[in-house]
Amino acid sequence: MDPWSESEGKRAHDPIFQCFSQNQNPRQPVENCCKERSVDAVVARSERCTCFWVSGPIIVGAGPSGLAVAACLKEKGIGSLILERSNCIASLWQLKTYDRLSLHLPRKFCELPLMPFPADYPIYPSKQQFVAYLESYAARFGISPMYNRTVVHAEYDEQLLLWRVSTRTSGTMGEEVQYVSGWLIVATGENAEAVQPDIDGLQEFPGTVMHTSAYKSGSAFAGKRVLVVGCGNSGMEVCLDLCNHNAEPHIVVRDAVHILPREMLGHSTFGLSMWMLKWLPVHVVDRILLCIARAILGDTARLGLKRPASGPLELKSLSGKTPVLDVGTFAKIKSGDIKVRPAIRRISGRDVEFADGQLEGFDAIVLATGYKSNVPFWLKDRELFSEKDGLPRKAFPNGWKGENGLYSVGFTRRGLMGTSVDARRIAYDIEQQWKAKGTLPDVFL
Ligand SMILES: Cc1cc2nc3c(=O)[nH]c(=O)nc-3n(C[C@H](O)[C@H](O)[C@H](O)COP(=O)(O)OP(=O)(O)OC[C@H]3O[C@@H](n4cnc5c(N)ncnc54)[C@H](O)[C@@H]3O)c2cc1C
Repeated sequence: MDPWSESEGKRAHDPIFQCFSQNQNPRQPVENCCKERSVDAVVARSERCTCFWVSGPIIVGAGPSGLAVAACLKEKGIGSLILERSNCIASLWQLKTYDRLSLHLPRKFCELPLMPFPADYPIYPSKQQFVAYLESYAARFGISPMYNRTVVHAEYDEQLLLWRVSTRTSGTMGEEVQYVSGWLIVATGENAEAVQPDIDGLQEFPGTVMHTSAYKSGSAFAGKRVLVVGCGNSGMEVCLDLCNHNAEPHIVVRDAVHILPREMLGHSTFGLSMWMLKWLPVHVVDRILLCIARAILGDTARLGLKRPASGPLELKSLSGKTPVLDVGTFAKIKSGDIKVRPAIRRISGRDVEFADGQLEGFDAIVLATGYKSNVPFWLKDRELFSEKDGLPRKAFPNGWKGENGLYSVGFTRRGLMGTSVDARRIAYDIEQQWKAKGTLPDVFL
């Protein structure tokens, strides 16, 4: 039996759709927000929740990945509905990043599909420029997400052959609104939730404790001794920012880390690596990168920053761990303006005891301990995503598609380049399904 007519048939007997027949015109959009977005929706109201049927795909998350896939779908004439928990697009960039942030990678590696950056943008656009680009991207493709809609549960309904996506108004326990669709595209990002480390005594620390997602600028820390926990790109850059605002930063470096200059031989290190990888195997490129890095930075291990046994690119592909692209922090470590500390043993009052037995007092602690996916908390699917880390089980380029119309975009550990690849593939795949059905959803703008 044609799966479409089967699902139509099952829907007719499902209680959530029964009230559609009581409607004069069950396909008439009933909520302004849906109407404005031309999403073909029908609604059922019960005592428990309100339910909409969305004829195009549902996308969860309005970050760069959600916008990219919505734009690629739109280009093919397929409308979609984006559900976003915050009150703006790109909430990670707008609400959870520090003021001095610029793209870590050159702009040509960060463009979303179908629209280049403005020609007058610098090689590394600032976060404000990146957000402006995303705003005009959304405007150009007529993308208007539904804001303040946190997806709390999504599950494939084997009876209806549709995804049921339950949302609540963000920050409330208010009424549940459910959306159902044949496609669910997960775009909630690898950085959905801040990772809070379990450090003995941290809860009782009397000074300021904040995650980097809440850190804006070092201006609040002038003259203060600040301990930055974690030495990824964010931790290193926050230290530099603190230095520039006359604070006294110390950085905790627990694990081995690769630091590479952001530019080498007049080119971006990332671009140079991509170019070399066209001709040379990974381990050779790694050797070259490390030789040049040593010539420019010197021996980082002497300053407490040991390098991992695997090279930077090999490590990235094995574990997803990104090398630090240095934007000036290392010079401050060399000059002694930033002090490197080993792992924390425990915290007692304002005093922090380190693994080498040293004890030092601090005024504030900034946790640069990274982020994690939140997919396992709301998506009831065991196939595409791993419950352990909330990332696709299959590595890039095979982790974008699951069963029953489930997709993932932006979980490739390859930044915005990976997002573009996923978004194009998903749009093509969904278009093929519409074509096979001989129609497109009537959601053109
Ligand atoms: C500081 C920093 C700098 C980076 N710099 C670069 C760079 O230069 N180049 C590069 O290629 N990559 C970079 N990245 C990596 C990556 O490209 C970005 O994190 C990018 O924002 C990922 O886009 P995304 O849409 O996949 O995820 P996000 O930007 O995290 O967007 C996900 C969206 O989903 C929403 N959401 C989450 N859970 C729910 C839910 N349950 N219900 C509804 N909505 C939900 C969130 O509110 C958010 O708006 C950087 C990352 C960070 C943290």
